This record gives sequence, C-alpha cells and structure tokens, in this order.
Amino acid sequence: MTLTTAGLPATSRCTRCGQPIAWGLTLPARRRMPIDPQRRPDDDHTANILVSGDPHGSILCRVESRAEPIRDGERRYMPHWATCPATNFYDVDGTWRPRK
Ligand SMILES: [Zn+2]
Repeated sequence: MTLTTAGLPATSRCTRCGQPIAWGLTLPARRRMPIDPQRRPDDDHTANILVSGDPHGSILCRVESRAEPIRDGERRYMPHWATCPATNFYDVDGTWRPRK
C-alpha cells in the first residue's frame, strides 16, 4: 500500500463511539491495533504508534519506545483507545477491556 500524508484508510468504525478507525498490525507480534486515521505531527510524543508501509496491504505499526524512537519513513498516529470517549477501550488484541 502507499501511505498518504493525509492519514490511514479508515476501514471500520469504533463500535462504541462510531468514529472512523483503521486497523493496524503491531510488530513484531502482529496483533490488531485500532488507530485514529489522522496523522499526527512527528514531534507529538503522545501519539506513540509508528506506522510503516507494507507491500501486502496491511498497516504495520509499532509502539514507540525510548530505545527505538521514530525512524525515517515512519508516521506517527494515536491509538484509538487513547481518544475514544466511550467508557471502555480496545486492548492490543482488538478486544474491549474495562477502563481501570
Ligand atoms: Zn471509540
């Protein structure tokens, strides 16, 4: 797939709040991750999901860490559970977990 500067293709909607979301696959575990489709500025460190392209059409991403900061070609996004106004949130495996 080609990543645009505008954001990710929103292929679903959050079942709790109805906002458009994109599904990413986290590396290296390849677990499903709901992501807000709007790209965030490279210096927005609250948006800690780093998305890279994938020739097979999946949205591959990883969680930024102090040891592995953003690299060339990665684009910064917010995990949906960080912005979802509903009372519960998605866990990294795509299931809903109660907010603690
Ligand atoms: Zn939501």
